[in-house]
Amino acid sequence: MRLMQWVSCCVFWLTVLLSQPGLAAESFDVWFERFKDTATDTELHEFLHAMPKGGDLHQHLTGSIFPKWWWELALRGDAHGVEYFAKTQINDCPRVDSAAIRLAPYGLLYQTIARHRLEALSDCEQSEFQPLRALSESQQVAWMDGIWLDKPSEGREAFFETHWQRLGDLTGNPWIIAEALVLHMQAFSAEGLIYLEPQVTLMGYRDDQGKVVPPEVVAGVIRERLSRRDVQALDLTVRFQQAILRFLPNAESQIVAAYRIVSKEPEWVGINLVGREDDERGQPKRFLETFRAMRRTYPDVRLSIHAGESEVANHNIRDTLSLGADRIGHGLNLLSDLDTFRSMRHGPYLVEINLISNLLLEYVESFERHPFPELLRTGVPVALSTDDRGMWDSSMTDEYFVAVKNFQLNWAEIKTLSENSLRYAFVDKPVQQAMLDRYAQKIGAFESQWRIQETGSRKTEAVSPKRGFVCRKYALCALP
Ligand SMILES: [Zn+2]
Repeated sequence: MRLMQWVSCCVFWLTVLLSQPGLAAESFDVWFERFKDTATDTELHEFLHAMPKGGDLHQHLTGSIFPKWWWELALRGDAHGVEYFAKTQINDCPRVDSAAIRLAPYGLLYQTIARHRLEALSDCEQSEFQPLRALSESQQVAWMDGIWLDKPSEGREAFFETHWQRLGDLTGNPWIIAEALVLHMQAFSAEGLIYLEPQVTLMGYRDDQGKVVPPEVVAGVIRERLSRRDVQALDLTVRFQQAILRFLPNAESQIVAAYRIVSKEPEWVGINLVGREDDERGQPKRFLETFRAMRRTYPDVRLSIHAGESEVANHNIRDTLSLGADRIGHGLNLLSDLDTFRSMRHGPYLVEINLISNLLLEYVESFERHPFPELLRTGVPVALSTDDRGMWDSSMTDEYFVAVKNFQLNWAEIKTLSENSLRYAFVDKPVQQAMLDRYAQKIGAFESQWRIQETGSRKTEAVSPKRGFVCRKYALCALP
């Protein structure tokens, strides 16, 4: 009895002490609201950069490589003997338009091709190209400008019809792709992510002679690179998706090949359908029989499929879920299909949100028009992702920055986004649980550490890299 009285007394005084201002540890949620109210944009960006994050479930590797990385990788000996040439002039050459030799429209300047493709062109066409290493400084700038989507005049058409085409043969070099993947992983790890699931294709590669490099060889090149110490040292789990361009005439046979590859290569866990949705040839219903046929043979290939990346109302998300997708890429027009929207509240499917992509590709006029807060706050599972950040010149920090600034995310919502990105990862249960535990540990440590750091001064050592998008849109840095 005496012991009980003593315990009650202690509990009472502890409660009194903790209720005194300055003595109690204020909850991080409350602290974060105060921080948001008073922080400058730069302080908010630096906080979000330092903040541990979950995963990025929606990123295209070749669209995530910054132009400077492409440039350096093509020239510094990682190209495995492949020499690259850029088109720097148009001489109105007589030409044969053959899909076998041409990757991009004839008139597209700064398209990049490998030597074997150059040698298949006429002398006149060859004279229009220069070796990449011979470009002048101003030509280098123009080459990089051709990959960034940074001008008000550039939008969806430029992105789909010219920016990818300019990358040309660079995207078909497995040794460059392996090195690019390492840079990609290091950059996301530095932002505090612990999981990435990029779309890294294993098809369509060629060597220095122009010979096809088979998928298993490409997987071997990537696997060997990821086994080295610099990658192993990262606190980062990765899995890959095989993407298929949905409107190609042979997309069905590509899906069949993709199933074969994904079922053989352990790091490749899922398949995605990509490509603009206003091209009617890629409608989801076209692939219903193909996916059903594949499931008769393959037990564990997961599907995350682009759908609803459109400002037009349609049933593409519903039809895509019928294909067997567990996750939807973009889901921007979900609110135009109320039955499907209602069925997605509180799971079981996740929508991969790409705020910056949707703005730059003109699917929304402004962030205020984006359905993300409605989906988040009505219980549709969502996570933030970066899509093709190499072309937007942005980061995962920027996605959180846009979300917090435009939609006033509270601390619980920020953590939910990270947790969702791990909970819906295409990994085995034990790996998923380990990542969720790791995230909980990291975010818990961050909460205590940041508050201590913030006491007295808001200055932090963690200066965040400010890339082009936030510089242009939010004036977070001085542009040249
Ligand atoms: Zn995408």
